Amino acid sequence: MTTLPNMHDAEPIPAAAREAIDRLMHSGDLFRYTAPKDAPVALLEAEFAQMMGSKFALAVSSCSAALFLSLKALDLPRDARVLIPGFTFAAVPSSVVHADCVPVLCEVGENYRIDMADFEAKLDDDIQAVIISHMRGHTSDMDAIMALCDARNIPVIEDAAHSLGTLWHDKKIGTIGKIGCFSFQSYKMINAGEGGILITDDADLVARAIIMSGAYEHNWKKHPVLQEAFGTWQNKLPLYNLRMSNLSAVVIRPQLPELARRVADGRRNHDLVAEALNSSPWIDVPEKLAPETRAPDSLQFNLVGMDDAEVTAFVEVAEAAGVKVQVFGLSSDNARAFWNWQFMPEMPELPQTRAMLMRACDTRLPARLTAAECDAVAGVLLNAAQSVMNPARAYGT
Ligand SMILES: *Cc1c(COP(=O)(O)O)cnc(C)c1O
Repeated sequence: MTTLPNMHDAEPIPAAAREAIDRLMHSGDLFRYTAPKDAPVALLEAEFAQMMGSKFALAVSSCSAALFLSLKALDLPRDARVLIPGFTFAAVPSSVVHADCVPVLCEVGENYRIDMADFEAKLDDDIQAVIISHMRGHTSDMDAIMALCDARNIPVIEDAAHSLGTLWHDKKIGTIGKIGCFSFQSYKMINAGEGGILITDDADLVARAIIMSGAYEHNWKKHPVLQEAFGTWQNKLPLYNLRMSNLSAVVIRPQLPELARRVADGRRNHDLVAEALNSSPWIDVPEKLAPETRAPDSLQFNLVGMDDAEVTAFVEVAEAAGVKVQVFGLSSDNARAFWNWQFMPEMPELPQTRAMLMRACDTRLPARLTAAECDAVAGVLLNAAQSVMNPARAYGT
Protein backbone atom coordinates (compact mmCIF):
# COMPACT_ATOMS: atom_id res chain seq x y z
CA MET A 1 0.00 0.00 0.00
CA THR A 2 1.24 3.48 -0.83
CA THR A 3 1.73 5.60 2.25
CA LEU A 4 -0.33 8.76 2.32
CA PRO A 5 1.32 11.86 0.90
CA ASN A 6 1.84 15.13 2.72
CA MET A 7 -1.16 17.02 1.38
CA HIS A 8 0.03 20.47 2.36
CA ASP A 9 3.52 21.02 0.97
CA ALA A 10 3.67 23.07 -2.24
CA GLU A 11 6.01 22.20 -5.11
CA PRO A 12 9.59 23.44 -4.76
CA ILE A 13 10.20 26.82 -6.38
CA PRO A 14 12.16 26.31 -9.65
CA ALA A 15 15.91 26.67 -9.22
CA ALA A 16 16.01 29.58 -11.69
CA ALA A 17 14.43 31.75 -9.00
CA ARG A 18 17.55 31.42 -6.83
CA GLU A 19 19.85 33.20 -9.25
CA ALA A 20 17.39 36.05 -9.65
CA ILE A 21 16.93 36.30 -5.88
CA ASP A 22 20.70 36.34 -5.43
CA ARG A 23 21.02 39.20 -7.90
CA LEU A 24 18.37 41.15 -6.00
CA MET A 25 20.17 40.46 -2.72
CA HIS A 26 23.33 41.97 -4.19
CA SER A 27 21.74 45.01 -5.78
CA GLY A 28 19.14 45.63 -3.07
CA ASP A 29 16.83 46.64 -5.93
CA LEU A 30 13.57 45.38 -4.41
CA PHE A 31 11.26 48.29 -5.32
CA ARG A 32 9.50 47.92 -8.64
CA TYR A 33 9.92 51.55 -9.71
CA THR A 34 13.66 52.07 -9.01
CA ALA A 35 15.05 50.58 -12.23
CA PRO A 36 14.37 52.68 -15.35
CA LYS A 37 13.04 49.59 -17.09
CA ASP A 38 12.80 45.78 -17.02
CA ALA A 39 12.21 45.53 -13.27
CA PRO A 40 11.12 41.95 -12.40
CA VAL A 41 7.57 43.15 -11.60
CA ALA A 42 7.31 44.87 -15.01
CA LEU A 43 8.63 41.75 -16.77
CA LEU A 44 6.11 39.59 -14.88
CA GLU A 45 3.28 41.90 -15.99
CA ALA A 46 4.37 41.66 -19.63
CA GLU A 47 4.72 37.87 -19.48
CA PHE A 48 1.44 37.32 -17.68
CA ALA A 49 -0.51 39.57 -20.05
CA GLN A 50 1.00 37.75 -23.01
CA MET A 51 0.26 34.31 -21.52
CA MET A 52 -3.38 35.27 -20.95
CA GLY A 53 -3.79 37.12 -24.26
CA SER A 54 -4.77 40.32 -22.43
CA LYS A 55 -3.65 43.82 -23.31
CA PHE A 56 -2.69 44.90 -19.78
CA ALA A 57 -1.66 43.39 -16.45
CA LEU A 58 -1.01 45.00 -13.06
CA ALA A 59 0.79 43.00 -10.36
CA VAL A 60 -0.20 43.85 -6.79
CA SER A 61 0.12 42.57 -3.22
CA SER A 62 -2.78 40.05 -3.30
CA CYS A 63 -5.87 39.00 -5.22
CA SER A 64 -7.92 40.84 -2.59
CA ALA A 65 -6.00 44.02 -3.45
CA ALA A 66 -6.69 43.36 -7.16
CA LEU A 67 -10.44 42.98 -6.46
CA PHE A 68 -10.46 46.16 -4.36
CA LEU A 69 -8.59 48.13 -7.05
CA SER A 70 -10.93 46.76 -9.74
CA LEU A 71 -13.96 48.13 -7.90
CA LYS A 72 -12.18 51.46 -7.30
CA ALA A 73 -11.11 51.65 -10.96
CA LEU A 74 -14.75 51.19 -12.02
CA ASP A 75 -15.42 54.44 -10.12
CA LEU A 76 -18.46 53.06 -8.33
CA PRO A 77 -20.21 55.53 -6.04
CA ARG A 78 -20.19 54.99 -2.27
CA ASP A 79 -22.69 52.28 -1.22
CA ALA A 80 -22.94 50.85 -4.74
CA ARG A 81 -24.38 47.34 -4.60
CA VAL A 82 -22.11 44.57 -5.89
CA LEU A 83 -23.57 41.11 -6.56
CA ILE A 84 -21.33 38.20 -5.52
CA PRO A 85 -21.93 34.47 -4.97
CA GLY A 86 -22.88 33.30 -1.45
CA PHE A 87 -20.15 30.65 -1.67
CA THR A 88 -16.74 32.30 -1.76
CA PHE A 89 -13.83 33.23 0.48
CA ALA A 90 -14.40 35.99 3.08
CA ALA A 91 -11.78 38.15 1.29
CA VAL A 92 -14.27 38.73 -1.55
CA PRO A 93 -17.11 40.42 0.38
CA SER A 94 -14.32 42.10 2.39
CA SER A 95 -12.87 43.70 -0.76
CA VAL A 96 -16.35 45.02 -1.57
CA VAL A 97 -16.72 46.53 1.90
CA HIS A 98 -13.16 47.92 1.65
CA ALA A 99 -14.18 49.71 -1.58
CA ASP A 100 -17.11 51.36 0.29
CA CYS A 101 -19.64 49.21 -1.57
CA VAL A 102 -22.32 46.83 -0.31
CA PRO A 103 -22.01 43.09 -1.07
CA VAL A 104 -25.25 41.40 -2.20
CA LEU A 105 -25.16 37.59 -2.04
CA CYS A 106 -26.85 35.20 -4.42
CA GLU A 107 -27.55 31.49 -4.00
CA VAL A 108 -25.14 28.78 -5.07
CA GLY A 109 -26.26 25.25 -5.98
CA GLU A 110 -25.18 21.81 -4.81
CA ASN A 111 -22.67 21.81 -7.69
CA TYR A 112 -20.90 24.88 -6.12
CA ARG A 113 -21.95 27.06 -9.05
CA ILE A 114 -24.10 30.19 -9.07
CA ASP A 115 -27.86 29.49 -9.09
CA MET A 116 -28.80 31.35 -12.25
CA ALA A 117 -32.47 31.88 -11.27
CA ASP A 118 -31.44 33.63 -8.04
CA PHE A 119 -28.64 35.52 -9.83
CA GLU A 120 -31.11 36.89 -12.36
CA ALA A 121 -33.63 37.75 -9.66
CA LYS A 122 -31.01 39.68 -7.66
CA LEU A 123 -29.55 41.44 -10.72
CA ASP A 124 -31.95 44.34 -10.35
CA ASP A 125 -31.57 48.03 -11.16
CA ASP A 126 -29.59 48.66 -7.97
CA ILE A 127 -26.73 46.33 -8.84
CA GLN A 128 -23.79 48.33 -10.23
CA ALA A 129 -21.14 45.64 -10.57
CA VAL A 130 -20.82 41.86 -10.33
CA ILE A 131 -17.91 39.80 -8.99
CA ILE A 132 -17.98 36.21 -10.20
CA SER A 133 -15.95 34.18 -7.76
CA HIS A 134 -14.90 30.95 -9.46
CA MET A 135 -14.74 29.37 -6.01
CA ARG A 136 -12.22 26.51 -5.76
CA GLY A 137 -11.97 26.85 -9.55
CA HIS A 138 -15.61 25.81 -10.16
CA THR A 139 -16.89 27.80 -13.12
CA SER A 140 -20.46 29.07 -13.16
CA ASP A 141 -22.43 29.48 -16.39
CA MET A 142 -20.41 32.36 -17.86
CA ASP A 143 -22.52 32.43 -21.05
CA ALA A 144 -25.70 33.15 -19.10
CA ILE A 145 -23.93 35.53 -16.68
CA MET A 146 -22.33 37.62 -19.46
CA ALA A 147 -25.59 37.75 -21.44
CA LEU A 148 -27.53 39.04 -18.42
CA CYS A 149 -24.84 41.55 -17.38
CA ASP A 150 -24.10 42.81 -20.91
CA ALA A 151 -27.82 43.41 -21.53
CA ARG A 152 -27.89 45.62 -18.42
CA ASN A 153 -24.46 47.17 -19.00
CA ILE A 154 -23.20 45.89 -15.64
CA PRO A 155 -19.42 45.34 -15.44
CA VAL A 156 -18.25 41.84 -14.48
CA ILE A 157 -15.08 41.29 -12.45
CA GLU A 158 -13.84 37.71 -12.44
CA ASP A 159 -12.33 36.52 -9.16
CA ALA A 160 -10.12 33.89 -10.79
CA ALA A 161 -7.87 33.56 -7.70
CA HIS A 162 -8.17 29.79 -7.84
CA SER A 163 -8.80 29.38 -11.57
CA LEU A 164 -5.48 30.04 -13.28
CA GLY A 165 -5.42 27.66 -16.26
CA THR A 166 -9.17 26.98 -16.32
CA LEU A 167 -10.93 27.32 -19.70
CA TRP A 168 -14.52 28.11 -20.64
CA HIS A 169 -15.27 27.21 -24.28
CA ASP A 170 -11.46 27.21 -24.72
CA LYS A 171 -11.27 30.82 -23.53
CA LYS A 172 -9.09 31.53 -20.48
CA ILE A 173 -11.00 32.18 -17.27
CA GLY A 174 -10.24 35.73 -16.15
CA THR A 175 -10.47 37.09 -19.71
CA ILE A 176 -14.27 36.83 -20.06
CA GLY A 177 -15.36 39.69 -17.79
CA LYS A 178 -14.07 43.28 -17.94
CA ILE A 179 -11.33 42.53 -15.38
CA GLY A 180 -9.80 39.25 -14.15
CA CYS A 181 -8.04 38.92 -10.78
CA PHE A 182 -5.62 36.14 -9.76
CA SER A 183 -3.78 35.15 -6.59
CA PHE A 184 -0.20 33.96 -5.99
CA GLN A 185 -0.90 33.01 -2.36
CA SER A 186 0.68 29.66 -1.46
CA TYR A 187 -2.44 27.51 -1.91
CA LYS A 188 -2.94 28.63 -5.53
CA MET A 189 -1.45 27.21 -8.73
CA ILE A 190 1.49 29.65 -8.63
CA ASN A 191 3.03 30.26 -5.22
CA ALA A 192 4.81 33.41 -4.06
CA GLY A 193 3.53 33.24 -0.49
CA GLU A 194 1.48 36.35 -1.27
CA GLY A 195 0.70 38.33 -4.41
CA GLY A 196 -1.95 39.04 -7.00
CA ILE A 197 -2.43 40.35 -10.51
CA LEU A 198 -5.27 41.88 -12.50
CA ILE A 199 -5.74 41.77 -16.26
CA THR A 200 -7.96 43.79 -18.58
CA ASP A 201 -8.12 45.12 -22.14
CA ASP A 202 -9.41 48.52 -20.96
CA ALA A 203 -6.61 51.13 -21.02
CA ASP A 204 -8.45 53.75 -18.99
CA LEU A 205 -9.44 51.24 -16.32
CA VAL A 206 -5.93 49.85 -15.92
CA ALA A 207 -4.45 53.37 -15.89
CA ARG A 208 -6.65 54.22 -12.92
CA ALA A 209 -5.81 50.94 -11.17
CA ILE A 210 -2.07 51.49 -11.77
CA ILE A 211 -2.12 54.96 -10.23
CA MET A 212 -4.20 53.83 -7.25
CA SER A 213 -1.92 50.80 -6.70
CA GLY A 214 0.78 53.33 -5.85
CA ALA A 215 2.41 54.55 -9.10
CA TYR A 216 2.92 57.97 -7.54
CA GLU A 217 4.26 61.01 -9.42
CA HIS A 218 5.25 59.83 -12.92
CA ASN A 219 6.00 56.19 -12.11
CA TRP A 220 3.10 55.26 -14.40
CA LYS A 221 5.42 56.05 -17.31
CA LYS A 222 7.06 52.67 -16.63
CA HIS A 223 3.82 50.88 -17.58
CA PRO A 224 3.19 50.07 -21.24
CA VAL A 225 -0.29 51.59 -21.40
CA LEU A 226 -1.50 54.26 -23.81
CA GLN A 227 0.14 57.19 -22.10
CA GLU A 228 -2.76 59.60 -22.70
CA ALA A 229 -4.89 57.34 -20.48
CA PHE A 230 -2.78 58.50 -17.54
CA GLY A 231 -2.61 62.24 -18.09
CA THR A 232 -6.29 62.64 -17.16
CA TRP A 233 -5.78 60.99 -13.78
CA GLN A 234 -2.51 62.55 -12.57
CA ASN A 235 -2.96 63.78 -8.96
CA LYS A 236 -6.70 63.04 -9.05
CA LEU A 237 -6.78 59.60 -7.45
CA PRO A 238 -5.83 58.29 -4.01
CA LEU A 239 -2.69 56.14 -3.77
CA TYR A 240 -3.41 52.95 -1.85
CA ASN A 241 0.12 51.46 -2.14
CA LEU A 242 -0.71 47.85 -2.96
CA ARG A 243 2.38 47.27 -5.12
CA MET A 244 4.20 44.00 -5.62
CA SER A 245 7.87 43.71 -4.61
CA ASN A 246 10.54 42.57 -7.08
CA LEU A 247 11.26 39.69 -4.72
CA SER A 248 7.79 38.23 -5.27
CA ALA A 249 8.06 38.71 -9.03
CA VAL A 250 11.32 36.73 -9.28
CA VAL A 251 9.68 33.87 -7.37
CA ILE A 252 6.65 33.91 -9.69
CA ARG A 253 8.29 34.29 -13.12
CA PRO A 254 10.04 30.89 -13.31
CA GLN A 255 6.77 29.21 -12.29
CA LEU A 256 4.85 30.49 -15.33
CA PRO A 257 6.40 27.87 -17.67
CA GLU A 258 5.40 25.18 -15.11
CA LEU A 259 1.74 26.11 -15.26
CA ALA A 260 0.64 23.86 -18.13
CA ARG A 261 2.15 20.80 -16.47
CA ARG A 262 0.71 21.66 -13.05
CA VAL A 263 -2.73 22.11 -14.60
CA ALA A 264 -2.54 18.78 -16.46
CA ASP A 265 -1.31 16.93 -13.33
CA GLY A 266 -3.91 18.59 -11.12
CA ARG A 267 -6.70 17.63 -13.52
CA ARG A 268 -5.46 14.03 -13.73
CA ASN A 269 -5.34 13.78 -9.91
CA HIS A 270 -8.77 15.34 -9.51
CA ASP A 271 -10.40 13.09 -12.08
CA LEU A 272 -8.79 9.94 -10.64
CA VAL A 273 -10.04 10.63 -7.12
CA ALA A 274 -13.43 11.92 -8.33
CA GLU A 275 -14.12 8.77 -10.28
CA ALA A 276 -13.17 6.56 -7.36
CA LEU A 277 -15.32 8.55 -4.91
CA ASN A 278 -18.36 8.51 -7.18
CA SER A 279 -18.50 4.72 -6.75
CA SER A 280 -19.67 5.31 -3.15
CA PRO A 281 -23.40 5.73 -2.45
CA TRP A 282 -22.50 8.31 0.24
CA ILE A 283 -20.23 10.55 -1.80
CA ASP A 284 -21.03 12.71 -4.83
CA VAL A 285 -18.47 14.73 -6.80
CA PRO A 286 -20.59 17.15 -8.85
CA GLU A 287 -20.08 17.27 -12.61
CA LYS A 288 -18.56 20.38 -14.16
CA LEU A 289 -20.59 22.32 -16.72
CA ALA A 290 -19.94 21.18 -20.30
CA PRO A 291 -17.92 24.22 -21.58
CA GLU A 292 -15.47 24.10 -18.64
CA THR A 293 -11.97 22.56 -18.77
CA ARG A 294 -10.85 22.35 -15.17
CA ALA A 295 -7.50 23.25 -13.55
CA PRO A 296 -8.00 21.88 -10.03
CA ASP A 297 -5.52 21.71 -7.14
CA SER A 298 -8.09 20.63 -4.57
CA LEU A 299 -11.17 18.44 -4.42
CA GLN A 300 -14.70 19.18 -3.26
CA PHE A 301 -17.40 16.55 -2.81
CA ASN A 302 -20.81 16.25 -1.14
CA LEU A 303 -21.73 13.71 1.52
CA VAL A 304 -25.07 12.10 0.69
CA GLY A 305 -27.62 10.63 3.09
CA MET A 306 -25.59 11.40 6.23
CA ASP A 307 -26.90 13.30 9.26
CA ASP A 308 -24.73 15.84 11.10
CA ALA A 309 -23.29 13.24 13.49
CA GLU A 310 -22.37 10.95 10.60
CA VAL A 311 -20.73 13.83 8.74
CA THR A 312 -18.66 14.65 11.84
CA ALA A 313 -17.75 10.97 12.25
CA PHE A 314 -16.68 10.78 8.58
CA VAL A 315 -14.34 13.75 9.04
CA GLU A 316 -12.84 12.20 12.20
CA VAL A 317 -12.29 8.77 10.63
CA ALA A 318 -10.71 10.29 7.49
CA GLU A 319 -8.43 12.51 9.55
CA ALA A 320 -7.36 9.62 11.80
CA ALA A 321 -6.45 7.73 8.63
CA GLY A 322 -4.38 10.69 7.40
CA VAL A 323 -6.63 12.75 5.09
CA LYS A 324 -7.79 16.10 6.42
CA VAL A 325 -11.25 17.09 5.22
CA GLN A 326 -13.11 20.29 6.08
CA VAL A 327 -16.87 20.55 5.82
CA PHE A 328 -17.33 24.21 4.87
CA GLY A 329 -20.37 24.76 7.09
CA LEU A 330 -19.48 22.67 10.14
CA SER A 331 -16.84 24.75 11.90
CA SER A 332 -17.72 27.95 13.73
CA ASP A 333 -15.01 29.95 11.98
CA ASN A 334 -14.84 28.67 8.38
CA ALA A 335 -14.11 31.75 6.24
CA ARG A 336 -16.12 30.28 3.35
CA ALA A 337 -19.42 29.99 5.26
CA PHE A 338 -21.36 33.19 4.60
CA TRP A 339 -22.99 33.28 8.05
CA ASN A 340 -19.51 33.78 9.55
CA TRP A 341 -19.09 37.08 7.65
CA GLN A 342 -20.46 39.15 10.49
CA PHE A 343 -18.91 42.33 9.03
CA MET A 344 -21.51 42.31 6.22
CA PRO A 345 -23.75 45.41 6.22
CA GLU A 346 -26.68 43.22 5.13
CA MET A 347 -26.94 39.49 5.78
CA PRO A 348 -29.48 37.57 3.73
CA GLU A 349 -30.55 33.99 4.36
CA LEU A 350 -29.50 31.62 1.58
CA PRO A 351 -31.11 28.26 2.44
CA GLN A 352 -29.82 26.46 -0.63
CA THR A 353 -26.22 27.63 -0.19
CA ARG A 354 -26.39 26.85 3.55
CA ALA A 355 -27.62 23.29 2.88
CA MET A 356 -24.79 22.77 0.37
CA LEU A 357 -22.15 24.10 2.80
CA MET A 358 -23.34 21.68 5.53
CA ARG A 359 -22.52 18.66 3.34
CA ALA A 360 -19.74 19.92 1.06
CA CYS A 361 -16.24 18.68 1.88
CA ASP A 362 -12.97 20.32 0.96
CA THR A 363 -9.63 18.57 0.70
CA ARG A 364 -6.37 19.64 -0.81
CA LEU A 365 -5.12 17.57 -3.74
CA PRO A 366 -1.82 19.09 -4.87
CA ALA A 367 -0.73 18.64 -8.47
CA ARG A 368 2.54 17.02 -7.33
CA LEU A 369 0.78 13.86 -6.01
CA THR A 370 1.35 10.64 -7.95
CA ALA A 371 -1.50 8.47 -9.22
CA ALA A 372 -0.73 5.88 -6.51
CA GLU A 373 -0.91 8.58 -3.83
CA CYS A 374 -4.27 9.74 -5.24
CA ASP A 375 -5.55 6.15 -5.05
CA ALA A 376 -4.48 6.03 -1.41
CA VAL A 377 -6.33 9.29 -0.66
CA ALA A 378 -9.48 8.01 -2.39
CA GLY A 379 -9.19 4.73 -0.44
CA VAL A 380 -9.13 6.56 2.89
CA LEU A 381 -12.21 8.63 1.98
CA LEU A 382 -14.17 5.63 0.65
CA ASN A 383 -13.34 3.58 3.70
CA ALA A 384 -14.28 6.44 6.04
CA ALA A 385 -17.74 6.70 4.42
CA GLN A 386 -18.17 2.94 4.52
CA SER A 387 -17.12 2.60 8.14
CA VAL A 388 -19.51 5.35 9.25
CA MET A 389 -22.52 4.28 7.19
CA ASN A 390 -22.11 0.54 6.98
CA PRO A 391 -19.56 -0.55 9.57
CA ALA A 392 -20.30 -4.25 9.11
CA ARG A 393 -18.97 -4.07 5.56
CA ALA A 394 -15.96 -1.84 6.13
CA TYR A 395 -12.39 -3.07 6.42
CA GLY A 396 -11.30 -6.26 4.79
CA THR A 397 -14.41 -6.87 2.68
C1 LIG B 1 -7.42 32.79 -2.38
C2 LIG B 1 -8.67 33.41 -2.87
C3 LIG B 1 -8.88 34.79 -2.75
C4 LIG B 1 -7.93 35.70 -2.02
O1 LIG B 1 -6.67 35.76 -2.60
P1 LIG B 1 -5.48 36.54 -1.84
O2 LIG B 1 -4.39 36.63 -2.85
O3 LIG B 1 -5.10 35.69 -0.66
O4 LIG B 1 -6.02 37.86 -1.43
C5 LIG B 1 -10.04 35.32 -3.28
N1 LIG B 1 -10.94 34.54 -3.91
C6 LIG B 1 -10.77 33.21 -4.03
C7 LIG B 1 -11.80 32.42 -4.78
C8 LIG B 1 -9.65 32.59 -3.52
O5 LIG B 1 -9.49 31.28 -3.65
